[in-house]
Amino acid sequence: MASVAAEPAGLTLAEYGAEVAGCTRCALAKGRTQVVFGSGSPTAELMFVGEAPGFHEDKQGVPFVGAAGQLLNKLLAGIGMTREDVFVVNTLKCRPPGNRDPQQEEIEACEPHLWKQIELIQPKVIATLGNFATKLLSGKPLGITRVHGQEQEVVLGGNRVVLYPIFHPAAALYTPRMLEVLEADFRRLPELLGQSLAPPVALAAEPEPAPEPAAVQLGLF
Ligand code: URA
Repeated sequence: MASVAAEPAGLTLAEYGAEVAGCTRCALAKGRTQVVFGSGSPTAELMFVGEAPGFHEDKQGVPFVGAAGQLLNKLLAGIGMTREDVFVVNTLKCRPPGNRDPQQEEIEACEPHLWKQIELIQPKVIATLGNFATKLLSGKPLGITRVHGQEQEVVLGGNRVVLYPIFHPAAALYTPRMLEVLEADFRRLPELLGQSLAPPVALAAEPEPAPEPAAVQLGLF
């Protein structure tokens, strides 16, 4: 896992965003209009992780503002939420030229920003949208078709979270069957948000000491 220089304790998400705005960790820095750090509530319980900014996101500096973003907004409305209730980021913070797929070295260069965002936001549930985010955050090569809708508890950015892979909204835009699956997976989000998690890793209780062996009852006589 790549690392970034140690950050001062007590750094806020906005302060971290200001720092990342000047990122030159990979070659995408040269072609971008701006870094697309993420948007929404810095204390969101639900975080979405997409793939990478596209044309509109690069221009506006906000993730998921194009057609896939409109669908994301609609899916959120379906569960009574808005973009202000959640935090939305991408695996890559800068637009790949021509919207090509993220490359491995770009993902590795960018991932410390994602870990830091997770650490600062401390979401309860992270919904990964599509293959790139799912493989990175699960640490497994299994594709989205295999694992969508299957939540698992993992430790990310020092926090215990429910990782919930779902299809990327862009994939569902023109495929009605995929949209149905995405809608069904989305409908489980409120339940996952209501679920209680094991205590945070750092605060995990010390293991119970083994019980003292039962005192041998001495016979009175
Ligand atoms: N827009 C984004 O911000 N991310 C995606 O993955 C797709 C569209």
